[in-house]
Amino acid sequence: MTEKLAIIGAGPAGLTAALYAGRAFLEPLVFVGPAFGGQIATTTEVENFPGFPAGLQGPELTQAMREQAERFGARIVEETIESVDLSQPPFKLASSSNRYEVEAVIIATGATPRKLGVPGEDEFIGRGVSYCATCDGFFFRNKEIMVVGGGDSAFQEGLFLTKFGSRVRIVHRRDEFRAGATLQARAAQNPKIEFVRSAVIERIEGNGKVKEVVLRNVKTGAVETTPVDGVFVFIGHKPNTELFRGQLEMDHEGYLTVDSRLHTSVPGVFAAGEAHDNWFKQAITSAGFGCMAAMEAEKYLANK
Ligand code: NAP
Repeated sequence: MTEKLAIIGAGPAGLTAALYAGRAFLEPLVFVGPAFGGQIATTTEVENFPGFPAGLQGPELTQAMREQAERFGARIVEETIESVDLSQPPFKLASSSNRYEVEAVIIATGATPRKLGVPGEDEFIGRGVSYCATCDGFFFRNKEIMVVGGGDSAFQEGLFLTKFGSRVRIVHRRDEFRAGATLQARAAQNPKIEFVRSAVIERIEGNGKVKEVVLRNVKTGAVETTPVDGVFVFIGHKPNTELFRGQLEMDHEGYLTVDSRLHTSVPGVFAAGEAHDNWFKQAITSAGFGCMAAMEAEKYLANK
């Protein structure tokens, strides 16, 4: 049986698309993938999602989005889509247990924080290594924090982490930062922030939890071991779009190419959220993209 619409991903983009598509009687199938809720579900306090003046927890927000979408007929499927054939409609999707044929697809697979790829990083995830200041900053009150990266995220999150840490060192592989001037000025004025320029982390070491990192100066080659409790990595994101490589147009980083109405390079396939958006990257903007993609999918199906 050919279904009308599949939504791949169940973060704010996918779940908002599901709500709108549900209300348009498209009975969308929503494939959850490896982690229900996406990045926002790994966040504790969400204070900038309109409509919740007291803030709420990330998982609470995605659970509420799920219930709202299900109320209008969205069908949440706890499967990960592992292969797709988008060469012509009906499009074919397969998980490890089932195969599906659908008339239209919304890709809302989101993005994953990039890793440093150094020894000790994987071993200490959740035990001193983190990719989410909002999630984990609280655990580092009066502790030594190291932030890696030289972009807006490193600066914004580094500033946020000064609420908790005794000191926040921003380690960057070059002398110059890519972060915007305002963030750079704010960081420079913050007494808790120090900069370690032209340096990379070579290794993260500890015993059950992070204790120190080995830093290498990329200009002089000098190596130094320095005590640290928390290593927060903000070196960009990688869109979760490998599945579509060779079938949909994407940029050199893997972000899907879309037009202003979120149509991808294949008619009937739409994208919403961080699978295509490398700029705004907010739960509310992803939700907005989800709404737009569902409205376009509805029009596409109506015209078919
Ligand atoms: P980004 O701008 O791509 O910056 C990533 C940083 O990580 C760069 O400084 C890069 O170094 C460094 N880096 C990359 N790979 C590395 C590696 N393997 N080891 C060490 N360092 C590495 O990413 P982002 O900061 O997440 O920002 C992404 C987008 O969102 C940007 O367009 C940004 O403007 C936007 N954003 C805006 C705000 C805001 O408040 N306006 C906040 C957050 C994000 P190089 O500089 O040497 O390349």
